[in-house]
Amino acid sequence: MQNNKPWADRQWFTGDWTCSKCGIKIDRLPFDPDPARVNELLCKDCHRSKMQAFRRDRR
Ligand SMILES: [Zn+2]
Repeated sequence: MQNNKPWADRQWFTGDWTCSKCGIKIDRLPFDPDPARVNELLCKDCHRSKMQAFRRDRR
């Protein structure tokens, strides 16, 4: 099964957001952010490290 598509294949949503962790500017996201949660957005790098930490915790 090939369910490992790179992000480049996804639809990108553009906007003007800020990463809640490192404060970097986010101008595009692979999903349409919930307006109620824009203060919790993470940039791609922070999101990836969060996912990796999550996986470590599960082991
Ligand atoms: Zn960040």
